[in-house]
Amino acid sequence: MKFFNRNKITCSSCGGLQVGGQWADTVKDVRKHYKKNQSFEFGTIYLCPNCNTPWYLDNIETTLASLWNTKRINEWQIIPKDLTSEQKAMFYSIKATPPDFYGNGRDFIDLPCKVILTNNKTLDFAMVRLQKDPPFINPYSHYKDYLTIDKVKKIEPSEYTLNTDLRLKTCQMREIRMGFTPTRVLGINGVQYLLNGVTNFFNQDGIKGSELTSVPKGQEKHENDLVDVIDNFEIKIIVGHWDENLTRARIEEF
Ligand SMILES: [Zn+2]
Repeated sequence: MKFFNRNKITCSSCGGLQVGGQWADTVKDVRKHYKKNQSFEFGTIYLCPNCNTPWYLDNIETTLASLWNTKRINEWQIIPKDLTSEQKAMFYSIKATPPDFYGNGRDFIDLPCKVILTNNKTLDFAMVRLQKDPPFINPYSHYKDYLTIDKVKKIEPSEYTLNTDLRLKTCQMREIRMGFTPTRVLGINGVQYLLNGVTNFFNQDGIKGSELTSVPKGQEKHENDLVDVIDNFEIKIIVGHWDENLTRARIEEF
């Protein structure tokens, strides 16, 4: 991106940015001409000098994003930088789900768990997610509906979470067709289910994630007899700040 009109510095929100050109120049222009607003540990917010649209530039200067929800800026800043020691202990005992084979998820430390919120509500399908960038710059829709870690009173294991072996297995699978990364699992009802992609939770036919195991070698059913997983629950994302030490709480291969 390059500025379209040198006489009047604008942004793509007010129509002045031209796509193309050198990324490094865009970053330089933002630093030079935009008004610095707030700095975070991992990036800075700049305002367009023409229309005041806030733009977020991360510290490694790979992302420049307009903020779709500025109300959440302060919310991100007041989240405690550190988890409580009790919460950290739960990361090590439940174990965080690692990035997939392709590296997706490396910017998150994801803990699939159950949480009890400060308002005493219980969420059985909760993903406590520690991340470097503030969630409000993320355009993906599930981020419009996240909670913050300060709303959590207690983290506990969820019965719906898959065990560490199975979760690791789903992370290590490769895509065999576009969007299809299958893992076979066995329910205590004897049914073999076909998971697709990184899977943290399961709840189907009365079988919970913790009641799934690997299909023993030689007992794999024919593909036609496998049951597809239905998407019948909503995972609530709960964001907190990245903690480098807790990358060690991820499931590892032995
Ligand atoms: Zn503008």
